[in-house]
Amino acid sequence: MNQLPLRENLRGLQPYGAPQLDVPIQLNVNENTHPMPAEVARAITDEVFAAAQGLNRYPDREFVELRQRLAGFLGHGVTEDQVWAANGSNEILQQILQAFGGPGRSLLSFPPTYSMYPLLASGTDTAYIAGERGAGFELTAESAARQVREKAPSVVFLCSPNNPTGTALGLDVVEAVYAAGEASRTVVVVDEAYAEFRHEGTPSALELLPGRPRLIVSRTMSKAFALAGARLGYLAAAQEVTAALRLVRLPYHLSAVTQATAIAALKHVGALLANVEDIKRQRDRIVSELTRLGLQPASSDSNFVFFGGLDDAPALWRRLVDRGVLVRDVGIPGHLRVTAGTEAETTAFLTELEALLAA
Ligand SMILES: *Cc1c(COP(=O)(O)O)cnc(C)c1O
Repeated sequence: MNQLPLRENLRGLQPYGAPQLDVPIQLNVNENTHPMPAEVARAITDEVFAAAQGLNRYPDREFVELRQRLAGFLGHGVTEDQVWAANGSNEILQQILQAFGGPGRSLLSFPPTYSMYPLLASGTDTAYIAGERGAGFELTAESAARQVREKAPSVVFLCSPNNPTGTALGLDVVEAVYAAGEASRTVVVVDEAYAEFRHEGTPSALELLPGRPRLIVSRTMSKAFALAGARLGYLAAAQEVTAALRLVRLPYHLSAVTQATAIAALKHVGALLANVEDIKRQRDRIVSELTRLGLQPASSDSNFVFFGGLDDAPALWRRLVDRGVLVRDVGIPGHLRVTAGTEAETTAFLTELEALLAA
């Protein structure tokens, strides 16, 4: 690759690469491990069958029905012209950087956070600025706002609940960051990929949209909706933001098959999200069991748990793989991250972990 005339800012980079290993218990990429309910799979098949008969034509470039249904799902007074969708929220974030980042512009986020943010920055030739968190990975309104004033970034990505720590940000942080970005006209994106798993009473940044034209809330159907394979991410923002994204999207970027799949899924929100409650129970069970084992799990509003207190995280990760359980080593010493699975998967993880810690 080094022989190729690759852009300078891509030289030496590694591609995104969470291991895809063939082990029985896969708890490493925060998927919904509950299979899609059969009735929903059938509804998707019917909707896709109907769409397939029109595949000689380009799809609805404006995906109007999908935007209507997504707006209806979000509530909070969000209307269809405030909604935009793409092939996963990764593409949503990329389009945001294509429109508001780019050469001579910058993206600020606060590691440890979603590992794709720096890669999306380099792909769009946006300078990446790693902000700072407190010793326990917390991010206060005061600290975040000060960093935004100092760095005056073009775009800020706030991940809430944060991946990999699992913890949600208070809306005071979002409000403070937005206000601090007034002078630099910073676009503030709240990545709420795990919003459906948050505890009762944890608010969504959707509440802050009215009157904030530079605020964007990003969501995905990959996690709670058990639809990671379909690739459907979306956002809510001021209508002007969706107008700006139309300038950078590829024509017909959402295939008719993708639209049909997502529409069918949204017609069965109840059946799909029924598993969310079970996943939250398993998540809370992991937190209390890890505490009992003397480890330090972070508080989680997501479908995964980040935990510390390990002597040698890479060695433990390897031993868990050897016992058929795949979790995630996010490269933070003494810590691992585990996705809340089905009850059986969660039990297998906890049983193997306890045995390894006792050994
Ligand atoms: C999983 C995840 C996404 C989702 O990506 P998709 O492209 O929608 O599958 C987005 N943001 C964060 C923080 C994630 O962990």
